[in-house]
Amino acid sequence: MKDETKLVVAGRSPESNFGIVNVPVYHASTVLYSSLEELQKRHIDRAEGKQVVTYGRMGTPTTWSLENAVAEIEGGYRSHVFPSGLAACAQAILAFTKTGDHILVTDSVYGPTRAFCNNVLSKFGVETTFYDPLIGSGISELMRPNTTIVFTESPGSQTFEMQDIPAIAGAAHKKNAIVIMDNTWASPLYYKPFSHGVDVSIQAGTKYIVGHSDVMIGTVTTTKELWPTLQASAAGMGQTTGPDDVYLAQRGLRTLSVRLKQHMENGIKIAEWLKGQSQVHSVLHPALKDHPGHSLWKRDFLGASGLFSFRLNAVSMEAVAAFMDHLELFGMGYSWGGFESLVIYADPSSYRTATKWDNTNPLIRLHIGLEDPDDLIADLKAGFDRLDAAK
Ligand SMILES: *Cc1c(COP(=O)(O)O)cnc(C)c1O
Repeated sequence: MKDETKLVVAGRSPESNFGIVNVPVYHASTVLYSSLEELQKRHIDRAEGKQVVTYGRMGTPTTWSLENAVAEIEGGYRSHVFPSGLAACAQAILAFTKTGDHILVTDSVYGPTRAFCNNVLSKFGVETTFYDPLIGSGISELMRPNTTIVFTESPGSQTFEMQDIPAIAGAAHKKNAIVIMDNTWASPLYYKPFSHGVDVSIQAGTKYIVGHSDVMIGTVTTTKELWPTLQASAAGMGQTTGPDDVYLAQRGLRTLSVRLKQHMENGIKIAEWLKGQSQVHSVLHPALKDHPGHSLWKRDFLGASGLFSFRLNAVSMEAVAAFMDHLELFGMGYSWGGFESLVIYADPSSYRTATKWDNTNPLIRLHIGLEDPDDLIADLKAGFDRLDAAK
């Protein structure tokens, strides 16, 4: 089955829900058993890995509908749903570390994941080293006997470095470390982490899976070998997600292919247009031929999403504000992946530790939504006029 078809059918089961097309929202804590024998049998089945209802926190047909669909489309064994993308990142790391371990995390990692390593993981005696996202197989030299995880994110969601995931995975596996990837940018549709050596893949479903900027959710998908460890860790931490949010995420997933195609097309059109503007220093979009990571993107990815950055020629912050403050279609806000366009300013020099970032050319990140790209271009053009006037 092709991915577009899988998006439509995966995780659904009308036959076990009165013919209802979408798996309904099961609200549950207590689950009643008809006999002691049945109670014991269900717990044994669950311990053997079957999806059986035992207690609300342990999963319901609603959660499995999303988990099974994501696992199937991402190409992993099974998936666990979390109440946010960050909870998914944190639990993926926690599941595979213990006191005394060392982990390697890309310097381009999502900021709150960095903060989790620095502020939470460190308290439990797990040491984090941040590494140059472009390191490739050179990761070998940073690996210590106690390195258990190499955490990747490609491309970085502000600076858009493309990582050579197969090279990193080859080096990590040689030294018995696992590779975790935050695969949110490409979504399960445009990058297949498990065919490139990744062992654990994370989705901030809040972004493209949900697609409507109204739900927080995350998933962690693993190989068969690592699944019991992830599952035990997530269950042990009581990680459970409200069924209404899970329902909205599985509903969003059904239209991911058409939305993402349009985000990609609109995004590339606007990225190309930006390249020709006198106010723009550079455009950081992996699908553009002159992006330093373009060949890796072409080799490994099946498409691009609508998130990228560009850098302005050096101007005052007043001029940056003049550009951003009165955009009409681009909302100023964090997150991305929804139907609407967003703009945000970022200064990567303020958080990088393994690599230096020169902030002379202010970095603006755009999420390109489903509006007509010509309207978005007109909005940006008016912004550049304001920027010129404020210079
Ligand atoms: C947004 C985001 C997350 C976290 O997701 P939340 O649902 O906001 O917690 C993790 N990784 C990346 C790359 C993100 O963009």
